[in-house]
Amino acid sequence: MTKGVIFDLDSTLCDSEGKAHDFGLQAMYESYSKEFPIEKDSFDLLFKEARSEIKREHKGMAASHERLFYIQRMIEKTHNTVIPELIIRHYLAYWDTLINHLELLPNTKEVLIELKKRGLKVCIVSNLTSFVQLRKIVKLGITTEVDYLVTSQEAGVEKPHPAIFLMALNKMELSPHEVFMVGDSLATDVEGANAAKIPSVWLKTDRDDNREMLKEVYPQHTIHNILELLSLIGN
Ligand SMILES: [Mg+2]
Repeated sequence: MTKGVIFDLDSTLCDSEGKAHDFGLQAMYESYSKEFPIEKDSFDLLFKEARSEIKREHKGMAASHERLFYIQRMIEKTHNTVIPELIIRHYLAYWDTLINHLELLPNTKEVLIELKKRGLKVCIVSNLTSFVQLRKIVKLGITTEVDYLVTSQEAGVEKPHPAIFLMALNKMELSPHEVFMVGDSLATDVEGANAAKIPSVWLKTDRDDNREMLKEVYPQHTIHNILELLSLIGN
């Protein structure tokens, strides 16, 4: 019998990697170009370069997603020094704007409310830093519906490492067969759930990294709309 659901957050419950990210990046550009005149194209390139360096240097750790490090690296590249005031200002411009534009994906609130009604425990497991994910949960208005949060910053490993899922199960006081893991990424959510022996539910979207997968990962269930989760779980 299903007693809980583990969800990925970004691109599973909310749209943080689409428009909201673009708005955040635009705000960061405006903040950045005020101090250091730069064309948007060059800024985008600078951001991408800094991001891929940090991702490479911190592969497998929450720090690989830390925008603070992306911005610090950008400033190191253009100014060859650390400028704390600017790093903080650009960082806040990015996250304040992104979080302001953040919205739940269609039908998500209804599903979360229904899971609560059915007495299920809900945990979010995310590859990011905790402060940012806590802010997102508050903005999305789902603090009542979400019982637990585990981030890769907290776990010390990232999805698909099974340890992050075991930490979630521990908090939920449930066994792998008593929950579903729902996420949009084959590489992190589905592969990780499979490794932790948790029934995996792939929320299929058209994101690029699923198409670029080098090896085959097989979800136990595939859904195209989060509403389908309710019939999967049953009553
Ligand atoms: Mg995701």
